[in-house]
Amino acid sequence: MKIGLFGGTFDPIHLGHLRAVKEVAESFGLSKTYLIPAAQPPHKPHRDIAPAKDRLEMVRLAVGSLDAFEVSDIELNRKGPSYTIDTLKHFKNMPGAEDRAFYLIMGLDAFLEIDTWKAYLEIFEQVPVIIMARPSAGTGPENPPWARVADFIGSKISDQYRCSDMEARHDGGEYHSIHFMDVSLLDISGTHIRDFARQGKSIQFLVPEKVELYIRQRGLYQ
Ligand code: ATP
Ligand code: MG
Repeated sequence: MKIGLFGGTFDPIHLGHLRAVKEVAESFGLSKTYLIPAAQPPHKPHRDIAPAKDRLEMVRLAVGSLDAFEVSDIELNRKGPSYTIDTLKHFKNMPGAEDRAFYLIMGLDAFLEIDTWKAYLEIFEQVPVIIMARPSAGTGPENPPWARVADFIGSKISDQYRCSDMEARHDGGEYHSIHFMDVSLLDISGTHIRDFARQGKSIQFLVPEKVELYIRQRGLYQ
């Protein structure tokens, strides 16, 4: 059984996340994808983040009773900053993990910062990674960002990766493959949504209806 793991600040979760990860799950035949809100994102110490319990609740509301998705509070129950490597080890050590193939899912912007993450090389030893090309990034050799991505893989991860259009494979087998997927271009970000909310503008159609209501009721991002 193939399982997706998708972490983020989710401040708030939005339709960009949901649509992109849905397309990944469908293409890769993932039976289930865990959405994993981060407790203290190690990369975002410079701004106020909505309380973890609100971010978790919004992910719960977004996913509702959909079978394909599950919410994991593993990072919220762990003390200190959330490190992806710890989360991967948690999932791989769960009972029944032998029968599951895990895939780590992230956006291209997150991937291009991965060399700042704790023990990031170990991530590629643990699981294959699926990178979603975010709006305006684009993959394919004709796109300048793709050349940058191939460079990045070669210099920061391993020069043994062989990069084709949508995939980077490690010939030595020491690291798992890295897949790239173009997803629908929904140019939505948490930053954008928080700005709209702060300015008293509508965020309808950027987040699921229940999330919009929750943000309003709780007075988040004022
Ligand atoms: P912020 O603007 O606060 O950074 P965000 O919208 O980028 O918020 P995050 O929680 O930081 O949301 O992102 C979690 C993951 O989702 C990251 O891997 C990011 O690359 C990816 N992601 C964010 N927005 C989109 C989108 N519109 N389409 C596809 N992937 C996205
Ligand atoms: Mg982000």
